[in-house]
Amino acid sequence: MQAWVIGNWKQNPATSHDVDALLNDLLTKVDAKNQAKMPTSNSQCKLMVAPSCIHLAAVSARLANTSIISAAQDVSAHSASIGAYTGDCSAQQVADTGATWTILGHSERRQYHKESHDCLINKLSHAFSQNLGVVFCIGETQEQYDNGQTLDVINEQLSVIKDMLVQQPDLAASLSEKLLVAYEPVWAIGTGKVPTVAEVSKTHQHIKQTVAGFADMADTVTVLYGGSVNADNADSFAADSMIDGALVGGASLKADSFLAVADAF
Ligand code: PGA
Repeated sequence: MQAWVIGNWKQNPATSHDVDALLNDLLTKVDAKNQAKMPTSNSQCKLMVAPSCIHLAAVSARLANTSIISAAQDVSAHSASIGAYTGDCSAQQVADTGATWTILGHSERRQYHKESHDCLINKLSHAFSQNLGVVFCIGETQEQYDNGQTLDVINEQLSVIKDMLVQQPDLAASLSEKLLVAYEPVWAIGTGKVPTVAEVSKTHQHIKQTVAGFADMADTVTVLYGGSVNADNADSFAADSMIDGALVGGASLKADSFLAVADAF
């Protein structure tokens, strides 16, 4: 299975100057690893970074013709192209920057922007209509975890994909190529707390089976783990065959720690 390591920069870095510095560091170190023929992020796993929308065009331009893919963190639910939606960026506008993927349904979007089931169906449809790949985030809260509701929550969140396919069955054929699922327990994001590898493995197996049940897929869906992944714990996640990569927040803001995670996969 192709491994992926994705940096979710969230609302960072603060300035375009800092974005340039991070990108330069990343590209220099990826090049150096390639030349030294070390096991690299380049050859072993695909690397993607998702800057904030204000920096997306510059980052996409800088990453054109490199091995690192650029992605948005979100797209508008209202229209795939243009329209009177103040503050939104459409999937078409994202694709026009040269970005080829978008994150959708991150728990911070679900929490702070109250993204609903129907809203996420629209976002997925709009992204796919512009030929963007989607990193679809799911995961339970601490309370849901404590109550043993993880798989119920995940089933509910994955039903967005099922319902989207009912509306657009044609998308099923390309799903294993255009969709990555990121399992991110909300309680593990930015907290330094992580589930055990065995717990993540079991949940990923469930996700793969569930998504395969929605569509006749060529391959099983790629499932990444996210939530406090760093240079120290990446190896243990990478060792499990159900964990196809990582969605990395805090540790993606430094080239060294991001590439250390990538080297693990
Ligand atoms: P974290 O964030 O690595 O800082 O926990 C992960 C995410 O929110 O995608």
